[in-house]
Amino acid sequence: MKIIMLGAPGAGKGTQAKKIADYYHIPHISTGDIFRANIKNGTELGKKAKEYMDQGLLVPDELTCDLVTDRVAKEDCANGYILDGFPRTIPQAEALERALNAMGTDMDYAVNVDVPDANIVNRMAGRRACLNCGGTYHLEFLRPKTEGICDTCGSELVLRDDDKPETVQKRLDVYHAQTQPLIDFYENKGILKTIDGTQEIDKVFADIIQILGE
Ligand code: ADP
Ligand code: AMP
Repeated sequence: MKIIMLGAPGAGKGTQAKKIADYYHIPHISTGDIFRANIKNGTELGKKAKEYMDQGLLVPDELTCDLVTDRVAKEDCANGYILDGFPRTIPQAEALERALNAMGTDMDYAVNVDVPDANIVNRMAGRRACLNCGGTYHLEFLRPKTEGICDTCGSELVLRDDDKPETVQKRLDVYHAQTQPLIDFYENKGILKTIDGTQEIDKVFADIIQILGE
């Protein structure tokens, strides 16, 4: 099963993508996590990506598309995968479609986690991230077992630079201008499934599984 997660920043794409990946035993591919790992390791890609990420802007398509199209061609993706945070622009969606068609395949579902902007600011302010393993928590809605520490790997949790309130509004503006048009793009392809993302985490997940199948 090949799935795309759509939704505003902070809508819960990563939270649900991890659960879906575990449930169907498919790789979870998050471009945000890939960029953050590159920043942590001080790579050239990381240095370039950070300039855009810190401003709440999208990393240019030419730094992003090949990264994903190479990744989905790997052997562990043969039975499917879940894309989280990609595509984020129409040219990215078209590049993905071309690459998949060249491999004789296509996406199965685009799951749109729908959350109004009013809920997003609170979600982002309370998000705490593990930059070591990509784990995501929330001060109120998904607390780690020990405050400030990742349950999975024991690393310290941080407020991401781009989750500070001044950057969040910019990211929402970028989302509406550049990413929201993908909802119509996948609706027209007949694979869009919209979920109410304002519900509790487990209810959102149950709704997704009901649509994708056991
Ligand atoms: P995205 O990947 O779309 O940017 P995340 O999955 O990181 O979003 O979720 C953003 C924040 O909101 C995180 O702190 C997460 O724990 C929390 N969160 C995710 N889903 C829900 C939900 N259904 N209800 C409340 N909080 C949620
Ligand atoms: P995320 O972890 O998905 O919230 O992404 C964090 C940041 O990484 C975004 O605000 C962008 O700056 C960058 N990014 C992640 N995925 C993409 C993408 N597909 N295209 C462009 N920029 C991206």
